[in-house]
Amino acid sequence: MILNIITEPNPILHQPSAAVPITDINSESIQKLIEDIVETMYANNGVGIAAPQIDSSLQICAIMKDFAKKKDKDIILINPRWEKTSPLKEWDEEGCLSVPKIYGQVKRYKKIKVDAFDAHGKQICFIAEGTLARIIQHEVDHLKGTLFIEKAKNLHSLQEETM
Ligand code: ZN
Repeated sequence: MILNIITEPNPILHQPSAAVPITDINSESIQKLIEDIVETMYANNGVGIAAPQIDSSLQICAIMKDFAKKKDKDIILINPRWEKTSPLKEWDEEGCLSVPKIYGQVKRYKKIKVDAFDAHGKQICFIAEGTLARIIQHEVDHLKGTLFIEKAKNLHSLQEETM
């Protein structure tokens, strides 16, 4: 089911999400929630989305399958944690479904190691680089109650096309 995206200002976007009990991951309600998160992401042309953005304060996020290794399955991260594997950071433009039409430059680590559980409760660990690393850092920030606009420089609104 496609759900409404929560947009700023809204307190749920600023509060830390709760960890999902591992034994609950395969429950009907969490599986349905994951399905809704993914469906809502694609319906809004998002590359990633976090549960608080659909009004659920749980540590779940999804990233579109284009960024998956085999590009055949969406990346679902439950209770994700990451750490840098290199001190290198880079600036790049970001936007967010919860802050429509606003963009800005955010400095993120280029390469990170991610630990999480997948949609079936299996523990996963992988290295992410570049855009994928950036999206994961953005989504994990959502789970901590942080929006990219709190870290960005040169925030600007997208110019509407007039022709
Ligand atoms: Zn976002």
